[in-house]
Amino acid sequence: MKINVQRLCDEFSSLAAISSPSFHEGEIATYLQQRFCALGAQVEIDNAGHEINGESGNLIARFVGTDPTREPLLLSAHMDTVSPAKGVEPVLCDGVFRSAGATILGADDKSGIAQIIEALEVLQENNLPYPPLEVVITVCEEVGLLGAKQLDYSQLKAKRGLVLDTSGVGLVARKAPCANKVRFVVEGIEAHAGLDPEHGLSAIQVASLAISQMKLGRVDGETTANIGLITGGQATNIIPRNVQIMGEARSFDVDSMASKRLTWLPVCSKFILSMNTLSLMILLVCVVF
Ligand SMILES: [Zn+2]
Repeated sequence: MKINVQRLCDEFSSLAAISSPSFHEGEIATYLQQRFCALGAQVEIDNAGHEINGESGNLIARFVGTDPTREPLLLSAHMDTVSPAKGVEPVLCDGVFRSAGATILGADDKSGIAQIIEALEVLQENNLPYPPLEVVITVCEEVGLLGAKQLDYSQLKAKRGLVLDTSGVGLVARKAPCANKVRFVVEGIEAHAGLDPEHGLSAIQVASLAISQMKLGRVDGETTANIGLITGGQATNIIPRNVQIMGEARSFDVDSMASKRLTWLPVCSKFILSMNTLSLMILLVCVVF
């Protein structure tokens, strides 16, 4: 069954021309509400907007489908964009949409919304059979999935769905890793490196000892870990008092992620203990996952 390319392009242009940076999705939410109602959906906007101080909540459009006994399917995208997004002018040239120049285009993720709308148009104008559909268009995705985090998933019947928000035609991402960030602050004892090194304890040296014991890189088939930032110290002649270390772990396996957390903590505590035996005071604080 063929899509209507002209209709799809027109829909995308209409969507792109509506400014909708995160937290300012009021206008596009109203447009989408009318658009999905016209396609026969029952539409509601949830109260996520209240919770996150945005103009709109998530939009949920329910289509009964041609056969209510079939397993429902979720279709999802997000309605917010990054900035600058005031006065977007989409320009179609040689079959490719671009912005006129002063703003972003907003194809992320208005192309996803346009695809969902076109799919519904094609289904309905050709009287094709389709299952109950739950279309969820979220807000504030670009600033940390804030809308999706507020969504009441118990209101959805679908157990499977497609989220149209990825680059690359013909690609499907079927899973994504969970991630934890970690921040350590190692406290040492500051002293002049030339006059009084005996009374100093280098936070950088302690941190490097701890890091050398950490398993980093590809930890197992599902998990990676990395220390990516180190900041600390004041001058070459001062034994550094503190150093901050930041890193992350990612895993497709939540249990593996939890065990990574457990292995990092003992590595750090071990160094507190070993340094204590030298009667030195080490504080390792602010372990945040
Ligand atoms: Zn996106």
